Amino acid sequence: MSRRQPVSRPESTESGAPLSLLEVLRRSTRHLAASGSDTPRLDSELILAHALQVDRIDLYVQFERPLGELELALIRPLLAARAQGRPLSYLVGQREFFGLGFTVDARVLIPRPESELLVELALRLKPEAEAAADLGCGSGCLGISIAVNRPQLRCDLVDLDPGAAAVARQNVSRHHLESRVGVFEGRWAEALSGRGPYQLVVTNPPYVTTSEWERLQRSVRDFEPRLALDGGEDGLGPYRELLPQLPKVTAPGAMVLLEGDPRRLGGVERLARQVLPGAATRRHQDLSGRERVLEVRLP
Ligand code: GLN
Repeated sequence: MSRRQPVSRPESTESGAPLSLLEVLRRSTRHLAASGSDTPRLDSELILAHALQVDRIDLYVQFERPLGELELALIRPLLAARAQGRPLSYLVGQREFFGLGFTVDARVLIPRPESELLVELALRLKPEAEAAADLGCGSGCLGISIAVNRPQLRCDLVDLDPGAAAVARQNVSRHHLESRVGVFEGRWAEALSGRGPYQLVVTNPPYVTTSEWERLQRSVRDFEPRLALDGGEDGLGPYRELLPQLPKVTAPGAMVLLEGDPRRLGGVERLARQVLPGAATRRHQDLSGRERVLEVRLP
């Protein structure tokens, strides 16, 4: 493997005196910057805070504190993994989404801030929904965020991958929603036959094309689940599969909110109009002004 780089690793000083927290933070930051992190200081702070089990802000009042060998032994493997590109959220096992904490690991896509738009739209446009479904739920961030903000709503979460469904179940218990949020394994709405009807369906399906997936940044392509990202040759395969299933599980006038790639949301819209005759559609922009969510109102 690579040669040791004493300046960039949190070892003890030459004199053998233990390093202060601040010095470890500085060396960690240099190490992560050199290995290509865009946010080396933030990453280092979050790794130290996680390893030392303190809030990030509390690091600042402990800068002078010497770190012992045991503490360094907790920090080193996390730094090494981050330097190899593993996303920070997987290292600390957490991600914030819509103001809520979600447990994540490599079995689920890390919730993205742009998906918060879908939750906002669901809460604003369909406040009266009694039953909702989140298809391809991953961590469960969409359905759970909606359910937390709508105390009367029942919500079913579906994922094809048993590992993802297991993470979603952890998040359902984490938010104490067991009595009204269920997790099912299967292909989109097929997993919900006999349940429903739903007035609201939300989904963030895999929508990256296979060739885009091959060119995604390393920290996404090599670490996040391909099943959650790769939408096939034209990035529309998952919509083709799930849209025709919707009439079977939805109530009249139901709202469907679909996240998509801004460059292809028009394609998703055409598909939805073909597959769901009589449906009205509208495209919504995310905070960076890109069309990100397609709203479909069923007849
Ligand atoms: N927005 C994700 C990305 O940037 C893609 C999510 C998806 O395919 N559903 O990689």
